[in-house]
Amino acid sequence: MATPKIVVLGAGYAGLMTVVGLQKKLNYNEAEVTLVNQNDYHYITTLLHEPAAGTQPADHARIAIRDIIDENKVKFIQDRVTAIKLDQKEVHLAENEPLSYDYLVIGLGSAPETFGIQGLLENAMFIRNINSVRMINQHIEYMFSKYHNEGQRQDLITIVVGGAGFTGIEFVGELIDRMPELCRKYDIPREKVRLINIEAAPTVLPGFDPELVDYAVKYFERNGVEFRLSTPIEECTEDGVILKGGEEIKAATVVWTGGVRGNKLVEESGLETMRGRVKVDEFLRAPGHPEVFVLGDSSLVFNKENERPYPPTAQIATQQGQNCAKNLVAAIRGGQMEPFVFDLKGTVASLGRKEAIGIVGKSKMFGRKAAIMKRIIELRWLYLLGGIPMVLRKGRHLI
Ligand code: FAD
Ligand code: NAD
Repeated sequence: MATPKIVVLGAGYAGLMTVVGLQKKLNYNEAEVTLVNQNDYHYITTLLHEPAAGTQPADHARIAIRDIIDENKVKFIQDRVTAIKLDQKEVHLAENEPLSYDYLVIGLGSAPETFGIQGLLENAMFIRNINSVRMINQHIEYMFSKYHNEGQRQDLITIVVGGAGFTGIEFVGELIDRMPELCRKYDIPREKVRLINIEAAPTVLPGFDPELVDYAVKYFERNGVEFRLSTPIEECTEDGVILKGGEEIKAATVVWTGGVRGNKLVEESGLETMRGRVKVDEFLRAPGHPEVFVLGDSSLVFNKENERPYPPTAQIATQQGQNCAKNLVAAIRGGQMEPFVFDLKGTVASLGRKEAIGIVGKSKMFGRKAAIMKRIIELRWLYLLGGIPMVLRKGRHLI
């Protein structure tokens, strides 16, 4: 029998955990494993709010793929996927010949959800990858540098963050940490800078523990953050944002953190999706395609207890990748596959270098203790990718 071909798309949390699992479990030549990713590095999405605000260099949030994979067992192709042809069992790439597969793992992550809000795609910025966060940081710095040269316009030092979900909150927390240094550098009094976090729901972090939300809001307000709650952004222009009711806030920097949807390639493949995400079966396979596994932000897994989908997180993507690797090995060896069961270990959100809020197991935590926990979670990801050597190489700034 021909060696089965496994193609993994995306070197994010889901794709890398699949590949790392496969390279540990498979014998040489038991399968031909190919990983495709548009960059030759993995970016640690859960750290991207830091380089976006300029509190850490972007390089801290990226790892060369060749430092993670065993090239004797996994072939890496750096290229952009342009189409997934399910009927032909092929993946089309921008620069290389199409790839055929026996098993396909889709881990292509998400895209910003803009809900059709006019002007967002054109005028707002997004915390998405290394390039987008470098641009946000440099844009903010350039706007601050213009302040004294362009009539001390308030909009130049006004930063609007649209959406107070976890991404918005983590970014605002980093901005608080960054402001003293940035204000000193450009001779701008800190109290003149406006950091405005706008949220459509009546509360920050809708659905999260109210006591921890209250802790975060008080911490932010003490540090000069303005919240606008129950106030959806309805339009984004070159000059700023327009809120429901017509109020305009002039801001030279608008960062949209209002939510995500699945990668559009998944929708375009013909699979049925909800907000770009595929409702997968108990083995994380696409309906009608037992050879196609959809993981991470492009997949939809329901919590059986409340019939609601789990939010797309690195935590679930990681566990999905681990499950998928096991099941691919079982499929190749004619064994029994294991259903995916999500084990929610908790949620910790950083509010800056020394502040965080979170729930781990049944314990609530905040402040310095939660910030340390957040660092431990980041170190664990490095450990899963490459053991102690990876922790020592890439994790020093976290310790
Ligand atoms: P990703 O990690 O996004 O990886 C997708 C990969 O596919 C990327 O490498 C991308 O370059 C590649 N790709 C995409 N399109 C193509 C293409 N066409 N061709 C080739 N390659 C392509 N979750 C948590 O659980 N905890 C946290 O603390 C946390 N913090 C976060 C902080 C921020 C600022 C953000 C934005 C998100 C955070 N999340 C967190 C959510 C988490 O990052 C995502 O749920 C997670 O990254 C999803 O993993 P994934 O493998 O599906 O996709
Ligand atoms: P999200 O969907 O969780 O939050 C988006 C927020 O934007 C919501 O509160 C929503 O009400 C608000 N919003 C939507 N439209 C709006 C509008 N027009 N005007 C103003 N506000 C609007 O998205 P996210 O924060 O990007 O998170 C994406 C996923 O990543 C989630 O699953 C989240 O749990 C996960 N994440 C986790 C962490 C962590 O665990 N530390 C950190 C970041 C992200």
